[in-house]
Amino acid sequence: MQKRITLLGSTGSIGDSTLDVVARHPQRFSVYALTAHRNGDKLVDQCLRFAPEVAVVGDAATAQDVERKLRAAGSKTVVSYGPQALIDVAKSDACDTVVAAIVGAAGLEPSLAAAKAGKRILLANKEALVMSGDIFMDTVRDSGAVLLPLDSEHNAVFQCMPRDGAQHGGVTKIILTASGGPFRTREPSTLVDVTPEQACKHPNWSMGRKISVDSATMMNKGLEVIEAHYLFDLPGDRIDVLIHPQSVIHSMVSYADGSVLAQLGNPDMRTPIAHAMSFPDRIDSGVAQLDLAQVATLNFEKPDYERFPCLALAMKALAEGGVASATLNAANEVAVEAFLNRRIGFMAIAQTVDAVLNALQNRSATSLDVVLEADAAARRAAHKIIDSLPVPA
Ligand code: NAD
Ligand code: MG
Repeated sequence: MQKRITLLGSTGSIGDSTLDVVARHPQRFSVYALTAHRNGDKLVDQCLRFAPEVAVVGDAATAQDVERKLRAAGSKTVVSYGPQALIDVAKSDACDTVVAAIVGAAGLEPSLAAAKAGKRILLANKEALVMSGDIFMDTVRDSGAVLLPLDSEHNAVFQCMPRDGAQHGGVTKIILTASGGPFRTREPSTLVDVTPEQACKHPNWSMGRKISVDSATMMNKGLEVIEAHYLFDLPGDRIDVLIHPQSVIHSMVSYADGSVLAQLGNPDMRTPIAHAMSFPDRIDSGVAQLDLAQVATLNFEKPDYERFPCLALAMKALAEGGVASATLNAANEVAVEAFLNRRIGFMAIAQTVDAVLNALQNRSATSLDVVLEADAAARRAAHKIIDSLPVPA
């Protein structure tokens, strides 16, 4: 049966890769809704190509502009805007599959709405799980939703996990691989001077700006440890991080009998996306087959927590539990944006997150409101700290 898709965040990097896979399989997939924030022109192009029933944007002015351009081109796509419109397309009876690819905390409520509505959710928006892991996973369980990870590491782990029916899975550890980003070997004392352009230049992956900076600080891997904890129900001390600069092994699972299962492939998000979209079937993703003879060498090393303090901060937040990881996430979002706007230096990202975690009291994440309050408080605290920092030269 054809799957009908709501793609949240269609104009981003994951959005592009998802639509590339959709276009390869018109019999399998059709698009119910596409959503963007401000990039109206790109959304118009996507609507003309994929003819969704609904398109959602961030504000009224963008909606008006998109609507005018769509009508001029003869499109019947209905345009709406704002946070409630995102929730509406995520839970609509007209779709069965929701690809959650909005970046940051803005993705939480629509992703959660899809979970409540029992959808098949393909989750790229790791921030949603980092903020509200227990609430999210409980919602998935209660509604019977199916949650499939798109993040390449978690998709790899999912592929390497014991199959249904094993009485005793025997999983000892998850090993998340990390490329180490663009600054893996850079002299640490020079990191204060790096620019947004340098930080966004990832050696192996082409991604949105926020996750690119997170990869450069390795906060991304820290968020992924938290994500893995909730997805696979393992404590933080059974989730290892291993630097693997080639990004060919996307992650591994180690077992009690000494086996280690790994998923390999060229670094291209269309592989995990195609896997999750067609699971349990396998379909063509457009990604070239891996040529190991050409890769020739796979290297591994331990992460350097001094060079990458954000990784240690995320591990600490996970160990503390409660709203600490929502606080970490919000402070990081504010700090990354300030770095991208050249308001603070690269090393001030970790300093800001650390200071916010120290300044705010942790509490149990008993409800979504409590999580959203923690998120707002962390944003206020981060802005205050950033206001007190000098503008980089
Ligand atoms: P991106 O910046 O390229 O795209 C983000 C999308 O979200 C865009 O469509 C944008 O319009 C939309 N958006 C941004 N702010 C919004 C808001 N306030 N309200 C509604 N929509 C908003 O980001 P990306 O690289 O595609 O990443 C998306 C998510 O997937 C992130 O959570 C990221 O961590 C995760 N992820 C990305 C990759 C990758 O390779 N890009 C890999 C793994 C996980
Ligand atoms: Mg990842």
